[in-house]
Amino acid sequence: MKKLKILFLSALIIAGGKLYAVKVPSAKKIQKVHDKAITIDSHTDTPMWFLRDNYSFGEYHNSKTERSKVDLPRMEMGDLDGIFLAVFIGQAERDEKGNLAAKDEALQIFDSIESNLRRYSDKIELALNPEDIYSIRQKGKRAAFIGMENGYPIGKELSLIDTFYELGARYITLCHSSNNDICDSSTDKKGPEHGGVSDFGKEVIEKMNYKGIMVDVSHVSDSSFYDAIRISKAPVIASHSCARALCDNPRNMTDDMLRALAKNGGVIQMCILSAYVKTPVPQPERDSARTAIRKQFGDYYSLSDSARKEFMNAWFKLDEDFPPVLATVSDVVDHIDHIVAVAGIDHVGIGTDFDGGGGVEGCNDVSEMKNITAELLRRGYNQKEIDKIWGGNLLRVFGEVQKVSKSLQENPM
Ligand SMILES: [Zn+2]
Repeated sequence: MKKLKILFLSALIIAGGKLYAVKVPSAKKIQKVHDKAITIDSHTDTPMWFLRDNYSFGEYHNSKTERSKVDLPRMEMGDLDGIFLAVFIGQAERDEKGNLAAKDEALQIFDSIESNLRRYSDKIELALNPEDIYSIRQKGKRAAFIGMENGYPIGKELSLIDTFYELGARYITLCHSSNNDICDSSTDKKGPEHGGVSDFGKEVIEKMNYKGIMVDVSHVSDSSFYDAIRISKAPVIASHSCARALCDNPRNMTDDMLRALAKNGGVIQMCILSAYVKTPVPQPERDSARTAIRKQFGDYYSLSDSARKEFMNAWFKLDEDFPPVLATVSDVVDHIDHIVAVAGIDHVGIGTDFDGGGGVEGCNDVSEMKNITAELLRRGYNQKEIDKIWGGNLLRVFGEVQKVSKSLQENPM
């Protein structure tokens, strides 16, 4: 009882008409558990900022008045040890010209990551292997991993997978919100095109296995997911996805998919983009203003640079005029609870999607990551379990992927 008093204060809450006893962890306890865990965010679109003028990764930004969700001072505030920076390429034309443009854009983003890491090399360092995070953390620095969101820049050239690997990419999200040459997306308005992973996509996955690049199934259609786990010789990840049972969005994973993922030995990294966490409540004024902007600008990915800038300004102004009703940290941990119940504690992690739309009430930027730890403690998760959620599971999968790669390279068929 005495021990319990030191670590937790108990409280009674009423939820859903029932009375629950919850543990209220002290700030000291939260800090201690969070410090001990290796904390990794497996998906951020922060490099989008690297390409903009007037943005400094080394400076503090206030998320209440500015749009950016990640910078080095706030990573320190949130005690985030490792971050996956996404090389995100929006889907556009799938012809030679489009593929070439996508490749060039990807190379430009890799370049911007490299220059930012060089500029702040006293604070952050590129990590290429799972174990790198331990040595980087020991130096008092943050680890930056690179993931590619969308396999579109590969075009039809498998050799580009070697190029992207050399530049540091350690996962590739097979597709984004539209179908590409690799597989069908969960959200393409035209519906399925290949019926899952294409023949070319199969070659892409095999090459990724060979190189030791994690196969990321976030955004892919259900059929593409089942194909990917069947084709991949290594466990897969969903770098930023949620549970469909709690929020019915095609972008989220069904319980059957969660069970298949657990069987595959993979991991789903909980996305904290509000609309995927909790079905948005209707906000008629906000909704019609959004529709009007979409109508005015048309397809975002076909816009010129200046029109995209204009679109973003209008989009963010709308957030000020009609603030969104966001999901909460408690809603996020409801998903984690569900995934743990269905797939087990070894198959869940965290991938915020910060700077790509991610952010909920209570964890709206990287400085607030500890609030997730607090909620996990409140729900009774122990240090060992929290370690797994915050990075242990992802590092295990990453290690497995490298092991499979090593054996494929040593024993070519
Ligand atoms: Zn995404």
